[in-house]
Amino acid sequence: MTIPHTVPVAVVGAGPYGLAVAAHLTGRGVRPRVLGVPMESWRTRMPAGMFLKSLPRASSISDPAGRYRLADFRAASGLPPVGDCYAVPLDEFVRYGEWFQRACVPEVERAAVVGIERVRDGFRLTLDTGEVFGARAVVLAGGFPPYARVPEVLRPLVEAGLASHTADHADLAKFGGRRVAVIGAGQSALESAALLHEAGAEPVLVARTGELLFGEPPASEDPADRPWPVRLAKPGSPLGPGWSFTAFSRATGAFRTLPDATRARLVRTVLGPAGGWWLRERLEGRFPVLTGHELLTAERTGGDGGPDGGDGGVRLGLRGTTPELEVDHVLAATGYRVDVGRLDYLSPELRGTVDRRNGGAPRLSAGFESSVPGLHFAGLSAADTFGPLMRFVCGTGFAARRISRSVAAGPAGSR
Ligand SMILES: Cc1cc2nc3c(=O)[nH]c(=O)nc-3n(C[C@H](O)[C@H](O)[C@H](O)COP(=O)(O)OP(=O)(O)OC[C@H]3O[C@@H](n4cnc5c(N)ncnc54)[C@H](O)[C@@H]3O)c2cc1C
Repeated sequence: MTIPHTVPVAVVGAGPYGLAVAAHLTGRGVRPRVLGVPMESWRTRMPAGMFLKSLPRASSISDPAGRYRLADFRAASGLPPVGDCYAVPLDEFVRYGEWFQRACVPEVERAAVVGIERVRDGFRLTLDTGEVFGARAVVLAGGFPPYARVPEVLRPLVEAGLASHTADHADLAKFGGRRVAVIGAGQSALESAALLHEAGAEPVLVARTGELLFGEPPASEDPADRPWPVRLAKPGSPLGPGWSFTAFSRATGAFRTLPDATRARLVRTVLGPAGGWWLRERLEGRFPVLTGHELLTAERTGGDGGPDGGDGGVRLGLRGTTPELEVDHVLAATGYRVDVGRLDYLSPELRGTVDRRNGGAPRLSAGFESSVPGLHFAGLSAADTFGPLMRFVCGTGFAARRISRSVAAGPAGSR
């Protein structure tokens, strides 16, 4: 197969991980071709009005010199410095990411990769523009959207517009005046329910857990101001205070050496469902919360459906003290499950060849390379290998350093 033009490496995705990897590759003298719309997931897959749960100091995208942190963006924009008690608004973070992109990765091409196949010396990529080109290495940094998980019982309702995943919405205000069941107990469920309520909708939160959990407000703006016994008992880390979080943040490379089952359990349970401390007052006593309730069935009532749900509704069957609930829409805040099989831009041959573990996550080398030489995965896809840090922006430094080193050391970097 003849490929018109071959580049050393293509980075698929221009969110925090794609941008960080591209910046570090450039820093090592390897010029990547970067495809994707900068910060698209944050603009189109998260609800307007959202705040970041991560602290400002844990919300910086990594560049090789550490000169383009969130704090640097705020300073450059004439905004005052902030500490741990400041919740970063979504729109500020999007502006920060776009500022980072303009400064560190100006060459981003706003195109989508629609096909990746393996060829003799690397990969053949097809863009939505119709362009075809070759790359000796590929870094997949396509983020969380392809992995959105909707409970089986809700799937038939999705097509009818009566159920959706939180990742389908950038604006929850469109549900104003409607009854919406929000399924889940994590940050996304809690914040979506609060935003729905504030937009004039009637949310009902349905959670399996016996009680809703919220983080503790930070004891001070600067962790260094905390008394030393507190710092010793619960050292600060980008993932939060505590020794286990410190281990996941500092010994990230060691996570990979744990047995498959242990890694799967830790990925599932560490940083389990809980809302940011600042969400508590926006929820408690404001709308019905059905804790200890499990979703069993979901059936359509009335109306003829259609893409916007028509005038029909949904009857939910629950295990719990409220066995039935009638709503206009069901919002699944039920998280994400990594499965390479869901990356439909990978050729069937590639999807079938990548060695997978724990339900479909790629098995990765210390340099984030999959079992297919030259094919790297960044971000959420790497959480099964490197642990919870990969679910957050604070993991971009670790990932980008390792990936750029691995790519530069391979055939791509040596040319
Ligand atoms: C509701 C919500 C709240 C969150 N809050 C926080 C938080 O407070 N702090 C935190 O650290 N993390 C948070 N996260 C996690 C956050 O999503 C990740 O930390 C971060 O987005 C990972 O960056 P990424 O680059 O891997 O993926 P993404 O940000 O998803 O970026 C993926 C990029 O790839 C592009 N892309 C995808 N497919 C293709 C393709 N085929 N061709 C070209 N481009 C493609 C997309 O357009 C996008 O630009 C949150 C997640 C959710 C869902």
